Amino acid sequence: MVNDHVRRLGLVLGDQLSFDLSLFDELDPAHDALLMAEVREEASYVPHHPHKIVLVFSAMRHFAAALEARGWRVIYVRLDAVDNSGSLAGELRRWHAALGEPALHLTECGEWRVEESLRSTGLPLTWHADRRFLCSREAFAKWAGNRRQLRMELFYREMRKRTGLLLEPDGQPLGGSWNFDADNRKALPKGARGPFPARFGQDAITREVVALVGERFAGHYGRLEGFDYPVTHDEAQALWQHFLEFALPSFGDYQDAMAEGEPYLFHARISAALNIGLLDLRQLCADVENAHRRDRVPLNAAEGFIRQLIGWREYVRGIYWLRMPEYAALNAFGNRRSLPAFYWTGRTDMRCMAQAIGQTLELGYAHHIQRLMVTGNFALLAGIAPAAICEWYLAVYLDAFEWVELPNTLGMVMHADGGYLGSKPYCASGRYIQRMSDHCTNCRYNVERATEDDACPFNALYWHFLMRHRDRLGGNPRLAMVYRNLQRMADARVEALWQRGERLLAQLDAGEAL
Ligand code: FAD
Ligand code: SF4
Repeated sequence: MVNDHVRRLGLVLGDQLSFDLSLFDELDPAHDALLMAEVREEASYVPHHPHKIVLVFSAMRHFAAALEARGWRVIYVRLDAVDNSGSLAGELRRWHAALGEPALHLTECGEWRVEESLRSTGLPLTWHADRRFLCSREAFAKWAGNRRQLRMELFYREMRKRTGLLLEPDGQPLGGSWNFDADNRKALPKGARGPFPARFGQDAITREVVALVGERFAGHYGRLEGFDYPVTHDEAQALWQHFLEFALPSFGDYQDAMAEGEPYLFHARISAALNIGLLDLRQLCADVENAHRRDRVPLNAAEGFIRQLIGWREYVRGIYWLRMPEYAALNAFGNRRSLPAFYWTGRTDMRCMAQAIGQTLELGYAHHIQRLMVTGNFALLAGIAPAAICEWYLAVYLDAFEWVELPNTLGMVMHADGGYLGSKPYCASGRYIQRMSDHCTNCRYNVERATEDDACPFNALYWHFLMRHRDRLGGNPRLAMVYRNLQRMADARVEALWQRGERLLAQLDAGEAL
């Protein structure tokens, strides 16, 4: 252990790999040091996908080297260091003592759990705001006020006005509308494909981390081989430029589409790089706006993309910090069902589920509609306990950090917050998946049927969900039409749907795959 005096010590976490952290304004490379630590607790508090652990550790090692090249003294604790205490709090305590009790500086954490564990050390900590986000925790709380329900669209308009993105000189939205989502729901034309994905080779640092992860986290779900994701700022830029050039122009049109063997389609695949600090949100938004103003990208694509970043992403973070820790325990529908085992294996005859889960286990990636309308929709309709499905989403995706995963899963997908985040559950029958994908043509189940043994499970489960939650959802104006349809159905049909739903749920409870 190094036994010398350091004036101030800055802790840089694995999802804070940005040269623009406000922490760096305060510290001075001549007198101060930075601490970075790979710890077992963070890598295994849920069984993270091996690619995610590789990404974070490899990107940390590259970032530490880049900081040293800029003149910083970095104390870097490797996972396999003999005196590694295994937790962030343990490492902070250990180095605080070893370095002569320097003043400790930290950037606000992404996750509530981590911030609590660092605060609970009892050490005197100086916190810095995380300015990678546009809306601070305090500004969001002020915007939310005492409202019982929040709406992303209103928050998004505020953010457009605040940033000036895609506005006319008089402050009105470009193109006369704040939102072009209605143009963004096209199915992929037959035979069309997304661009060839950008792939990044493994250097010696990444190869070393891959070996370490294979050795230490062998029991985690997901494939270790084939890691091809950016681990440096330059590589992340290359991924971003690839998206701008080849995918963004069609991003809007096919944002909701799904296709066999096309894991990325026209999506950016940048979320993991952005969440750990390898990309800068402001630059991404400026690039997209410029691409549109130079006529390279249609407005529905530019607006749709910017809405995801300054709307949804900032909105879910705001809700997370406003409502934690009680938010994580919400369960408005009282769901108790365990997560079916096929979420961890992909072994199900439901083709859409097998595709979404299969690519997730292979790549640590599925795009938004697969998460929301396939794996999420199934969990909602089947009444899976929110904590179980939240743990799954947190474990299996490269980009999963609780501040963004939890509100998306618990709020958007499971409606477990009773409608605080979104005005209605995103429940859908197999018809939606049929319209937006080509999965149904290759499925053993028949999407045209609902009550027979070979009928698409989504169909009966959809009606079963609406029936069993009629008390809570029946008065929701956004579901009025579907409840009117249910009302008009013949009693025998309603009974048959209910019975088929019961049989499917019983199969899940018996541990049978569908
Ligand atoms: P694109 O479709 O190309 O979108 C561009 C960017 O917009 C994304 O990179 C992301 O930064 C942002 N974005 C889009 N939608 C959202 C959203 N709903 N919330 C926050 N940011 C958004 N995103 C994560 O980063 N981490 C998660 O753990 C995560 N968990 C999710 C769980 C569920 C159940 C659902 C429905 C969504 C989740 N999302 C999560 C949001 C979204 O699915 C991913 O950000 C997106 O699929 C990442 O792929 P991409 O970079 O190709 O995104
Ligand atoms: Fe999915 Fe149903 Fe279509 Fe099969 S038939 S792919 S289960 S929506």
